[in-house]
Amino acid sequence: GSEKEAALAADPSDGPTIFDKILWKEIPSQVVYEDEKTLAFRDISPQAPVHIIIIPKVKDGLSRLAKAEERHFKVMGHLLYAAKIIAKQEKLDDGFRIIINDGPNGCQSVYHLHIHLLGGRQMNWPPG
Ligand code: ADP
Repeated sequence: GSEKEAALAADPSDGPTIFDKILWKEIPSQVVYEDEKTLAFRDISPQAPVHIIIIPKVKDGLSRLAKAEERHFKVMGHLLYAAKIIAKQEKLDDGFRIIINDGPNGCQSVYHLHIHLLGGRQMNWPPG
């Protein structure tokens, strides 16, 4: 699909991404949650009735999960906890799914670590 093409075309470098433009308010986004470490906004191409992207405000080398180091433990826990808070805020009481795509095989297209929060419909297993 087009996600696969976008992922294969993505630059796996450590430079700024479109998510920095969202953080800097250079491009608009529908923010649903924000705290001192994280920002969450609606995905522009939703794959479920609720599809939210949760990112660390400071990338600090976390272009992808494969680049995680011990210094990132706290922010990674923070992202996961934010997912729980947002799921409750979005009333996903029947459950939800979180996804982290890593690298070309994972279909990652934006190289700024992010969690996808999907909900509002029955998910399938295994994912594609
Ligand atoms: P994939 O494109 O395969 O889902 P990622 O896991 O890197 O790869 O996800 C990047 C996500 O960012 C995509 O779901 C895409 O729709 C979303 N996205 C890209 N640009 C924007 C934007 N300007 N605003 C909101 N979401 C965006």
